[in-house]
Amino acid sequence: MDRNSQDYVRDAAATPGGGGFDYLIVGAGFAGSVLAERLANDMGQRVLVVDKRPHIGGNAYDRYDDAGVLIHPYGPHIFHTNSEDVFDYLSRFTQWRPYQHRVLASVDGQLVPMPINLDTINKLYGLSLTSFEVEKFFESVAEKKDEIKTSEDVVVSKIGRELYNKFFRGYTRKQWALDPSELDSSVTARVPTRTNRDDRYFADKFQAMPLHGYTRMFERMLDHPNIKVMLNTDYREIEEIMPWRRMVYTGPIDAFFDHKYGKLPYRSLRFEHTTIHQEKFQDVGTVNYPNDYAYTRISEFKHITGQTHASTSVVREYPCAEGDPYYPVPRPENAALYKRYEAEAEATPHVVFVGRLATYRYYNMDQVVGQSLAAYRKLRTAHDAQSATSSAVLTSPQPL
Ligand SMILES: Cc1cc2nc3c(=O)[nH]c(=O)nc-3n(C[C@H](O)[C@H](O)[C@H](O)COP(=O)(O)OP(=O)(O)OC[C@H]3O[C@@H](n4cnc5c(N)ncnc54)[C@H](O)[C@@H]3O)c2cc1C
Repeated sequence: MDRNSQDYVRDAAATPGGGGFDYLIVGAGFAGSVLAERLANDMGQRVLVVDKRPHIGGNAYDRYDDAGVLIHPYGPHIFHTNSEDVFDYLSRFTQWRPYQHRVLASVDGQLVPMPINLDTINKLYGLSLTSFEVEKFFESVAEKKDEIKTSEDVVVSKIGRELYNKFFRGYTRKQWALDPSELDSSVTARVPTRTNRDDRYFADKFQAMPLHGYTRMFERMLDHPNIKVMLNTDYREIEEIMPWRRMVYTGPIDAFFDHKYGKLPYRSLRFEHTTIHQEKFQDVGTVNYPNDYAYTRISEFKHITGQTHASTSVVREYPCAEGDPYYPVPRPENAALYKRYEAEAEATPHVVFVGRLATYRYYNMDQVVGQSLAAYRKLRTAHDAQSATSSAVLTSPQPL
């Protein structure tokens, strides 16, 4: 049964103490759910989580499609981290299935490992180089750059222009509608080049998928009597009618301030999901198409989730300008615009801004969990300090 705002007002009044919610949390993705869980479980705070979407989990939400295949509606989400703290924390809410993501790139009519490694070069050029020789090969084709400023500089200074054109230029232009020479170095710096045969996409210490999916994990995080969840609701619809004291905001920071300095640019994606009535579609989780087609990649979920099923579901990602905000565009002028909003956020002490949209950063899931746990520790410290001060005032001798 759908609950309306009146039900939540009643809940708030019925909470122990009856003083409403301690926290209004905007967004039920990783940032909002980690904060809700910590505030309720560790501090006994009363929390209302609102999300304008019809589900919890934010972009990491997963669900079974009509054929019964577990899919990620917002594109493939692969969990990987070097942080033991983050992994241990999430392990309270899920068991894991070990999974190492592998990606092939379709280049010159062949499927070759991505990130570029020894096998990529040997297959592409019909060679049989050793690790040592491929290192020399990269050195011989690399272009000398005095300063690494753009995404193009990062790649051509490591592996030369030909490989840059085959693997990076087209992909980046599709993804961002900008040439790599116009983009901050951080975009392509994320992708390594290897001289060995390691074909794992990520090299992190922990690489695993939630055994029963992300949504189940979020359900367990939010399963606490002090946490109420309200879906299909923009926080603006209820912020005036709900009693709350502080806010955790995980939506876009520019929207919070009514875009008063202008819109922060984002790149979006259109996802085309298809179910195919055969057991397997491709050999690995993701195949990149840097040079052909309007989409950038095709991902097949069963590789990622480990599900056994007679059918399979894939998603094609078409980058676009309009739509949900997915990727902050990393250019200096955008960082400068974000700084203006960040200054506003710092002057709004009753609201904590956390998560990828509220801090205008491309963050992986583990980074958002780490950022949210750190934000929680700060809240807890401030809360403890405040309680210590008020109890000191109460217990100190009062003048007659
Ligand atoms: C295509 C794609 C693939 C990705 N793949 C990976 C991957 O493989 N591995 C990885 O680690 N990371 C991946 N990520 C990144 C990952 O999605 C993010 O790190 C993570 O989802 C961030 O969590 P969040 O809580 O900050 O934001 P979100 O998940 O976006 O949650 C924010 C929530 O706030 C809600 N909201 C916004 N405004 C309002 C409002 N006004 N009122 C109410 N609710 C509101 C939104 O509906 C949303 O649900 C990927 C991202 C994309 C776009």
